[in-house]
Amino acid sequence: MNRTTDRVDVVVVGAGMAGATLSCALAAAGLDVSVIESGPAPQWNDENYDLRVSAINLASQNILMALGVWPAIRQKRISPFDDIETWDEGSTGRIFFSAADAGLRHLGHIIENNAIAVALHEKLQQQERARVHYGLSVDKCQSDDEEIVVTTHKGRVFRARLLVGADGALSRVRELAGIGLHQRPYRHTAIVAHVATEKSHRQAAYQRFLWSGPLAFLPLADQRSSIVWSADANLAEELIQLPDDVFQRRLEIAFQNRLGNITSVSHRERFALVHRHVERYVSHRVVLVGDAAHTVHPLAGLGANQGLADAATLVEVLIDSANRERDFGGQVTLRRYERWRRGENQLILNTLDGLYHLFGSSHPMITNIRGLGLNLTNRITPLKMMFLRRATGLSGDLPQMAKPSLS
Ligand SMILES: Cc1cc2nc3c(=O)[nH]c(=O)nc-3n(C[C@H](O)[C@H](O)[C@H](O)COP(=O)(O)OP(=O)(O)OC[C@H]3O[C@@H](n4cnc5c(N)ncnc54)[C@H](O)[C@@H]3O)c2cc1C
Repeated sequence: MNRTTDRVDVVVVGAGMAGATLSCALAAAGLDVSVIESGPAPQWNDENYDLRVSAINLASQNILMALGVWPAIRQKRISPFDDIETWDEGSTGRIFFSAADAGLRHLGHIIENNAIAVALHEKLQQQERARVHYGLSVDKCQSDDEEIVVTTHKGRVFRARLLVGADGALSRVRELAGIGLHQRPYRHTAIVAHVATEKSHRQAAYQRFLWSGPLAFLPLADQRSSIVWSADANLAEELIQLPDDVFQRRLEIAFQNRLGNITSVSHRERFALVHRHVERYVSHRVVLVGDAAHTVHPLAGLGANQGLADAATLVEVLIDSANRERDFGGQVTLRRYERWRRGENQLILNTLDGLYHLFGSSHPMITNIRGLGLNLTNRITPLKMMFLRRATGLSGDLPQMAKPSLS
């Protein structure tokens, strides 16, 4: 058994979008980071498409630009979206958001998750102060007043001032730290696929709220669209099992042929959706970011954006503490991060829960109010702009990296 001990400033467990962003930023700011990732290094292949895509908002784009990985992401497949159109099966409600109305070039970009992962990992591997250990997973940890000792399942030992759990929704770090979780399943499973359509998507994102759950069409670089269709588990299972041509017809009907006929469909994958939020973001010399701390319904495409904002906030708080020669792994520093992010994330979780319940109701009074609400919001410009600024990440208590660069 390998008993080598690595002594670093920070150990990050998990190098998904949140963990890799955090590790790049910490190393760039001068801290020594060891990253423990159970999977292999992500690879890019022009022939392979990742069915998992993310609507990356303007705040997240600023973070990726600050890290210097945005040019590498742009070279891969990526589509801006300039408009969002949302309408409702149960009412006449319709709302339309446009970048032009807000004086913006785009509202965000749709990017394959693998394109972001590859760019971040390439950057990590170039950094002297970061070392990524692939194929290792964390097994146990023990902390005292000075440090935390992290042991992997292969017996490798790391000593650090701080352990960050960025290891996703089923976080082992969260479990090891004894951090409790509020969780309840949404009654939805999300089906994802890429489809080709008769008409151009014209760089717009579309979402129709069906009785059974929201159906989104997100624009991809090659004129195809990524779909996210949320439905209860039985309907999702039925949709997954359908032959391609029958699935295409069902999709056309559900989407009211907004982009004409569906001309081809990729294979489909499904994800059970669960609302999760941790009771605490911090424990003794341990802190959580990204899906390890919260998961949310993808109806507004915000989960990864929340994780990137967590990472950028934690970096700001840790570096500020290190610059003041304070213990950056201590409770005073970590609680500052928790206070900053808990409220922001709770607001998003509550808002999306509200939308999920509002659009899931078939009660005539609720559907009338819903239609009225959508149409009114569409007409009241300040209200519309408030929603738009939140969704694009232009409002809220943003860390410095998420703000537009002045240079
Ligand atoms: C259908 C769907 C659509 C979505 N669409 C959007 C969208 O449009 N926009 C958006 O912002 N968000 C979206 N999301 C949410 C987004 O995908 C997630 O929030 C985001 O990927 C989470 O990133 P993360 O780095 O926190 O966690 P993860 O991506 O889960 O990364 C965790 C990493 O930790 C590693 N790991 C796990 N356990 C261990 C261990 N014990 N030891 C070492 N390593 C470990 C894993 O291998 C992995 O690399 C969507 C989610 C779903 C399900």
